[in-house]
Amino acid sequence: MKNLKLNPDLYSLVDIAPTISEMLDIPMVLPDGKVIPEVNEYKITHNCKKVVLIIVDSLGYSLYRYFSESDGTFRNIRQIAESGMVLQCRSIADHTTPAIASIFTGYLPTQHHIYATDDIYVERAKDSKNPKIKTILEWAHDAGRRSAVVIESHGADTFSDRVNNIYGVPDSQDIIEYDIKITDAAVEALKSKPDVLAVHLRAIDRYAHRSQTWDELKYAAGTVDTNVGRIVETAEKGTLFMICGDHPIHAGEKWMRSASKAWVGKHQDRSVALVVGAC
Ligand SMILES: [Zn+2]
Repeated sequence: MKNLKLNPDLYSLVDIAPTISEMLDIPMVLPDGKVIPEVNEYKITHNCKKVVLIIVDSLGYSLYRYFSESDGTFRNIRQIAESGMVLQCRSIADHTTPAIASIFTGYLPTQHHIYATDDIYVERAKDSKNPKIKTILEWAHDAGRRSAVVIESHGADTFSDRVNNIYGVPDSQDIIEYDIKITDAAVEALKSKPDVLAVHLRAIDRYAHRSQTWDELKYAAGTVDTNVGRIVETAEKGTLFMICGDHPIHAGEKWMRSASKAWVGKHQDRSVALVVGAC
């Protein structure tokens, strides 16, 4: 496993879309992000034909390292990392919607202007052909490739007719059950053998906001790892996985008082993890 963390400014979440574009030969207007050469080389040497992108909400880089290396909560995610690499990526927004828009489009928020889900409709009304609001899933679809997305229903509606398979899961107070439904839908989506599948798991973020203790946060992380494991075992051989955070966890919550000292001590997340590997 390569742990490419020496320069956290080297990679950014906006690099994910252009890297998928290069790997799967999907034409797109060149965005702010750049192709990550190590990921593209990995795809070539491992002869990967498909990509599954799993966005793990609030997966900061040090949080990833803690759950993966110090305490063993991340068994499935760690296995993917061991087959490939872990990159430390610059986070480009504090909040989910602009960050995910950047992951999907390859543009910074100052370019795509999507800060809330409905902004996508506003931006499309201004210019329906604006490449800065076009996601890699839509570029794939337009290039005749199969793309699929599994996200919260309101976000899923924005993809209407623009992606082959769209699975929306209604938001829920029970985020553990919500993530299980997301995972069920991802497993279902994989049956149609998409070239690119994007999935968003949210339990860590919700628990970071609402839980009282570090143990609760750890529990949420365990459920995310289990869900990732189900997706990995369902995917076809030769699938390249990209598992990334959207923004670092927000500190200052109640659970911080009981947070592992090993995590709090020397790490404060300013970057997010991008785990790349193959099954
Ligand atoms: Zn988020």
